[in-house]
Amino acid sequence: MTSSISERIAKIRASLPPSVRLIAVSKQVPAEVIRSAYAAGIRDFGENRIQEAASKQAELHDLSDITWHFIGHLQSNKAKKALELFQWIHSVDNLKLAQRLNQLAQELGVHPQVCLQVKILPDPNKSGWSVSELLGDLPALDQCKTLQIQGLMTIPPLGLKDTEILSVFKSTYNLAQEIQSQNCPDIKMQQLSMGMSGDYQLAVQAGATMVRLGTILFGDRT
Ligand SMILES: *Cc1c(COP(=O)(O)O)cnc(C)c1O
Repeated sequence: MTSSISERIAKIRASLPPSVRLIAVSKQVPAEVIRSAYAAGIRDFGENRIQEAASKQAELHDLSDITWHFIGHLQSNKAKKALELFQWIHSVDNLKLAQRLNQLAQELGVHPQVCLQVKILPDPNKSGWSVSELLGDLPALDQCKTLQIQGLMTIPPLGLKDTEILSVFKSTYNLAQEIQSQNCPDIKMQQLSMGMSGDYQLAVQAGATMVRLGTILFGDRT
């Protein structure tokens, strides 16, 4: 890419509604480059590997107002570490993991913000609740009082046309409305984490409140 990181950030920021939170997905991006994005105004960074995040966070310790977002599949043996390193977990993808995080968060005295990852269409390559499973698990999720459940996260399957991607995002929006109308006082549905480099405009059109952008900011990962 010929433009600088700060130029790319400025351009994308300007193209987003001010209320949409831009999460810079910095997986495989070295700490110095994260520092440049920080200098250009980014305060939200997304990572998908615990070990990699731990070492970069240590290098960036002086940037104390970064909010770190975990966006990858979380194995239950890394749940505790995830709670120590991240303020947000977008990828809570099953009830057992939610309950384990809830228990650990209570022990650690933290109140993590989480999104529930949902699969609107079946996708063997992704984890997440199906719509019917998620609706069935709501009462149990509502008991996870130490988690601050803020909304839904989704990733459309690969290979869809734009109209189909838009429809996945709109269904996610509608599902959030439906969940909101159930009687689960501790489940909030104010956040929709959806949209990556290739489809974030469609996600914003459908009501995304957080977009997770990597390639378009940092270039191709190797
Ligand atoms: C890698 C990743 C992103 C960013 O993808 P880009 O296409 O590089 O913008 C967003 N969300 C998740 C869950 C990811 O794993």
